[in-house]
Amino acid sequence: MTQKRSYHFETRAIHEGLKDSPWQGATLPPIFQTAAHYHETAESLSNTFAGKTEEHIYMRLSNPTSRFLEKKLASLESGAGAVVAGSGMAAINNACLTLLRTGDEFVASKTLFMSTYTLFNTIFRKYGITVKFVDPMSLDDIEAAINEKTRFVYMETITNPGMEVADIKAIANIAYSHGAPLIMDNTLASPWLCRPLELGADIVMHSTTKYLSGHGAAIGGVVVDAGKFDWTGEKFQDFAPFVEQKGNLAFLHRMFKEYHVNFGTAPAPFHSFLTAMGLNTLGIRMERHIANAVKAADFLKAQPKVEWVNFPGFPDHKSYTTAKEQFNNKGFGAMLTFGLKDQTTCFKFIDRLEMILNLANLGDCKTLIIHPYSSQYISFPEALKNQLADPKLLRLSLGIEHIDDILYDLEQALTAV
Ligand code: PLP
Repeated sequence: MTQKRSYHFETRAIHEGLKDSPWQGATLPPIFQTAAHYHETAESLSNTFAGKTEEHIYMRLSNPTSRFLEKKLASLESGAGAVVAGSGMAAINNACLTLLRTGDEFVASKTLFMSTYTLFNTIFRKYGITVKFVDPMSLDDIEAAINEKTRFVYMETITNPGMEVADIKAIANIAYSHGAPLIMDNTLASPWLCRPLELGADIVMHSTTKYLSGHGAAIGGVVVDAGKFDWTGEKFQDFAPFVEQKGNLAFLHRMFKEYHVNFGTAPAPFHSFLTAMGLNTLGIRMERHIANAVKAADFLKAQPKVEWVNFPGFPDHKSYTTAKEQFNNKGFGAMLTFGLKDQTTCFKFIDRLEMILNLANLGDCKTLIIHPYSSQYISFPEALKNQLADPKLLRLSLGIEHIDDILYDLEQALTAV
């Protein structure tokens, strides 16, 4: 059917790609549980290896269920193409390593998700790659850190657990003026709240494990390419063969051919199915997640036992203005951090919660809490641990339960400490 209307995000999250799929009217992609795909002729398999057709060869390369998800995610992030991966970390590795060589540098926010921080600060350094950590709120800091060796700038839309909102437009302009692409980890915002590619970023990645799949049932990642960066610039002469083959999609093509395929980062199709199913309700879930976060932030701020609340939705928060503008007045994300008296009080509080779950995830439909200092950051050196997560800090990821039940649980646990 010819599409006459340009549909809204929430509608595309449900319908994108469905009517193009030859799946006998199925309203969700079938789970193609097959390691490999046979071809009727030798020529067909040869053409597929040569990249001349969209057919499939082997699950480590591609799979129809995952391909359906890739197209949907590319559309929702306003990108030109996407490659899904087995986890968010696999997606980050794929995106960064496609751009990096020994001796290269890149610039990244100094407040990053813990595994991303370790990857950049420890693992990449082992291979002679230098990360320059910067304050994501300081454009001067970012500008000063970039030099001729900088291959990209990497930021999180909302930092985890710093709760800072980077000014994507301004950072993209700085990166662009130095001939470097901007990569945004958009996990905490989701494309419902923010679409970095529309603001000038070149590459977006997600841990789809979070809001995109939405139910805490699947793990996955995605890299979406805007297809706008000019890879013929001075810094990217090594991209020439890929530009020749795929033009502005050189990055995604190279990432797929060199890293996704050879590192073995493909997701299992069942996880792609669960994520595609989760996307159907992304819009409505985000509305509730975000509304609950505002109410929980206000509630916690009013509690005498709560020392501070870090939430970009407070007008006096350093990221309030950027978040309001960049997120089109749709909210401030659905995660917040807050401080209690000390680590012992944090532990007691967690132990008294009745419904809110103490676990290492976020962006689930369930409300989740964690004490990052004693869990995710436990093996970090003391100074770094303190820089990234205060011992008094609790991280709360608001789910979509009834707000009265969430506030009841927070209140009764606070009363008990
Ligand atoms: N990026 C952010 C902002 C995250 O919070 C996470 C995980 O919590 C990741 C990336 C990594 O994703 P995954 O756990 O799917 O590998």
